[in-house]
Amino acid sequence: MKPNDLLTTHFQINTKRCRALEHLSIKTIGDLLYHLPARYEDINDVRSVASLDLGTQAVVYGYLSKIASRRLWKNRRSVTDGYLTDDTAKIKLLWFNQPYLAKLYRDGMRVKVTGKVTGKADKPYIANPEVEILGDGMVPGSDNVKDTTATDGSLYPVYRETEGVTSRWFYHTVRKCFAKGILNHLADPIPPEILKKYKLPTLKTALVWVHTPKKLEHSASARKRFAFEEVFYIQIQKALTRKKIAEQNTYGLETNPQCLDDFIARLPFSLTKSQTDAVTEILADLNKSGTMSRLLEGDVGSGKTVVAMIVCLAILSAKVKAQKKTKSVKSNKTVINHLQVAYMAPTEILAKQHFQTFIDYFCHLPMSIGLLIGSECMKYSLGTEVTLKISRKELLAEIEQGDISIVIGTHTLTYKTVKFKHLAQVIIDEQHRFGTRQRMSLTKKNKLAPHLLSMTATPIPRTLALTVYGDLDITRLKGMPKGRKPVITKIINPSKLEEMYSHIRLELSQGRQAYVICPRIDEPDEEKEAALDLKNATAECQRLQTDIFPEYRLAVLHGKMKPAEKNKVMRQFTEHKIDILVATSVVEVGINVPNSTNIIIEGGERFGLAGLHQLRGRVMRSNHQPYCFVVAKKTSEQTRARLKALTTAKDGFELAEYDLKFRGSGELYGERQSGLTDLGMAAIKNLKLVQAARREAKQLTTEATDLKQNHPLIAKRVSRLAKILHWE
Ligand code: ADP
Ligand code: MG
Repeated sequence: MKPNDLLTTHFQINTKRCRALEHLSIKTIGDLLYHLPARYEDINDVRSVASLDLGTQAVVYGYLSKIASRRLWKNRRSVTDGYLTDDTAKIKLLWFNQPYLAKLYRDGMRVKVTGKVTGKADKPYIANPEVEILGDGMVPGSDNVKDTTATDGSLYPVYRETEGVTSRWFYHTVRKCFAKGILNHLADPIPPEILKKYKLPTLKTALVWVHTPKKLEHSASARKRFAFEEVFYIQIQKALTRKKIAEQNTYGLETNPQCLDDFIARLPFSLTKSQTDAVTEILADLNKSGTMSRLLEGDVGSGKTVVAMIVCLAILSAKVKAQKKTKSVKSNKTVINHLQVAYMAPTEILAKQHFQTFIDYFCHLPMSIGLLIGSECMKYSLGTEVTLKISRKELLAEIEQGDISIVIGTHTLTYKTVKFKHLAQVIIDEQHRFGTRQRMSLTKKNKLAPHLLSMTATPIPRTLALTVYGDLDITRLKGMPKGRKPVITKIINPSKLEEMYSHIRLELSQGRQAYVICPRIDEPDEEKEAALDLKNATAECQRLQTDIFPEYRLAVLHGKMKPAEKNKVMRQFTEHKIDILVATSVVEVGINVPNSTNIIIEGGERFGLAGLHQLRGRVMRSNHQPYCFVVAKKTSEQTRARLKALTTAKDGFELAEYDLKFRGSGELYGERQSGLTDLGMAAIKNLKLVQAARREAKQLTTEATDLKQNHPLIAKRVSRLAKILHWE
């Protein structure tokens, strides 16, 4: 038996199970071994039926009896019930809407039942329990039937299953592989020095410890190793990309500090410390040899645009090293060179806004600025100091001749027809709104590689950023410029809604508008979930209209609505023909309605803090005082404390760190797209581990000139990773 052997060569696997395994991406013996248990059950926690307590999660072993299905006459719901009996007592089991279970489960079967004990003290039952059908002699933990096949210790691994393949199958198959000596055929891809340095177990030990642990510490240590391994491969892949970028030929520059200082002095505000630090870091990149590749992170409104403008000017006023002298333009003291900057924004509205802002800030300098979007083209001309509409063809020609210094646009900038003469800098605003390919295509437009500055407002913790954006240097804008009206955020108990509603009524009477956000309803089936969400939002809208705000105009906005319908509602809200917009959180409200300065977020306890923060960002766009009400059930002290962070944290990044600490990685923005496994996500909690993986990856890629030759096993993993990971 070898790790690369197909499972089917060694095990009889029926088609149904085969499909299930495929679904979990398990084809080879190696894949199977890397399918780690999701958790462990302590066999000492297994209870006898007589000792079950109401309200607790229970694992019980026993026999099934009197399993039958019927329909409730009232609502035609189907119910399946029956009993679980062990040596001590019996308890009722109950399933809803799964009539087929009566055929699957038969009287007399030995089973393991997991579920929550509910009902009354004298009539307890387990509703919708998980049932695992056991073979003969497989009733571990109950007093008189000892499990002969379970682990030597008391920990029983539980694997992620899908329909067709059970945790028990994994358990036994892995043990069979161990018995056939698979562990002697495994080479450890991680160099022994690294394992030793971070006290990580070898592959062989880690596999034994993770699949058949005797102690929890062992499984924890093994998991740490696999987590390190996962992050390590990602970091290597990123380090390779980074190396490639750094080695590209680019424009060697020497920036002109005087010119930048003049520009900064002219600004209508002074830069925050964070903005100044960011500028310093970016200028250092530009003056170094090698291509800049940097991500600027900062909350909505933290002032990224002005930093980007300073970068534009830094490029356009720099002395260009080792290039034939070409034309440059001089006005007063400032010399503008022949280089070009492309600034890509996610929407036409944003692109137009930026175009205007750039003209306002740069009109005293001798440069031309172009706007290239799907619907129109504009040009602010050098010398004429007027903004004109211009034909696409003309604009494209001028860009190609190098006559336009700054080109602002949407994804249209990536089109083949757009050719630059000397593209020295690419700036991507709201980079998460673009695909990787779109972003890369812009940086490949030249023979010489342009410097890259990406910007994002998505708040993610530092560890996740270091991993997801491992190929970029990261700069963070902390906090907000002074003088902003911070949102007044209140955590509202559902019993105190009336106060909140009267506040909203007052605001509406003064001409403001409001959002009401309904939480998503958790439901594994996406289609069903969307339908439930819509129903929920519609019902809430109805209730608010009838009971609370009869004199105002309300409407629902939901992702599942037809685009035309959605557009109509958005337009009406923008034109203030609607006062309150009831929406679900899935709706990415692409509208900017400054007059809407109130937001109610229902079911607040169900959101992550970073998510709440992004939602409340929608009301921070006006001169009126914004308000955010988070309606949260009076739950635990911890939930309260967590929500309170909303009123104290200085930005979204701080809140993302809270999320990671208090609720785990499940709350993180961008997690779904990150491509990390559950284990990798758990690793993200550990800054030291991520930093170690990053450090070692850097070291290894610097030393190994040819990864394939020096570390073939790692090279193989990394190339596979490159195929399955889709960042952002
Ligand atoms: P974002 O980071 O979301 O792109 P913007 O760059 O649009 O934020 O900035 C939001 C607003 O803050 C703009 O109107 C900008 O002029 C203003 N601004 C930026 N920096 C400062 C500052 N240091 N002091 C005061 N206002 C600032
Ligand atoms: Mg912005």
